Amino acid sequence: MKRIQLIERAGGVIVGAAVGDALGAPFEFGPAGAFSARFPSPDAGGEMCGGGGWDPGEATDDTQMAVLVGESLLERGGLDLPDIFTRFQRWAAAEPKDIGLQTEDVLTNGMPWDLAAAIHFQVNLRAAGNGSLMRASTSAVHFAAAGRGATMDAARRIAALTHGDRAAWEGTAIFHELVRVTLEDADPLAALPDLLRHHVHPDHSARYATVLAADWHPDRATEFNGAVWPCLGSAVWALRTTDGFEEALRAAIDLGGDTDTVAAVTGGLAGAYYGLDAIPARWTEQLHVPLPGFGERVLRLDDLLDLIARLTR
Ligand SMILES: [Mg+2]
Repeated sequence: MKRIQLIERAGGVIVGAAVGDALGAPFEFGPAGAFSARFPSPDAGGEMCGGGGWDPGEATDDTQMAVLVGESLLERGGLDLPDIFTRFQRWAAAEPKDIGLQTEDVLTNGMPWDLAAAIHFQVNLRAAGNGSLMRASTSAVHFAAAGRGATMDAARRIAALTHGDRAAWEGTAIFHELVRVTLEDADPLAALPDLLRHHVHPDHSARYATVLAADWHPDRATEFNGAVWPCLGSAVWALRTTDGFEEALRAAIDLGGDTDTVAAVTGGLAGAYYGLDAIPARWTEQLHVPLPGFGERVLRLDDLLDLIARLTR
């Protein structure tokens, strides 16, 4: 692995995730192979195409919620779970273009922050969507310096705000730890066996070991990739089986299904691995993140870079 400055890797996580989100959004719920059918040549340009209700470069709920988490961490001087929940609620009430069904229910059911997700899970019994994994870029960057235990703990607690199923917590915690390892210039794929054996809840480690194994392929997924396991597995597969940021994102979006989130998670991991410089400028130029519920604010690349600098300070 190349040595890259920490800020370059941290920037890669957050901008990479945002770029993946915006790039994948127009292909959401589409068939496999749709991206490369439309853009057969890898560097021909025009891929930030918009469509399906999205403007070219417009980031969706994945990035919007990640920004809300990041801003809470900065403004509250650390992890303030009720504050994050309140920001999520304010955002959800402003009717964002995209919001996960489960996330919407938890944020609008009127329950207090520390019960809403748990009660939703008790009633529905299914809460292992990828909706907490998709928004983890900012918290992963912020808590990396605090070490493995602290970053995985923070991941679980932020995930639990909207997802009552521990499977979602563990997937988000694995993502946090893979980012932390990469920011230390270590190979995240090499870290997986020990991570799965010793640091993932024993009730969930076997299922993650399956989807994160070197020989796993997204074709072997037993659920839609809107679920947390195949989503994380597909992102790690895309990182493992490609040789660059752009190639990893193309592979992720070409899987079809929940393309914005699979590409956002892939973009976070690949952005950490290859660094900010590896993200094509033609993809960041049009990138923008509207924040419904927070005035008319729309963050652009410079705003994200400023957020990243503050999150890593
Ligand atoms: Mg989305």
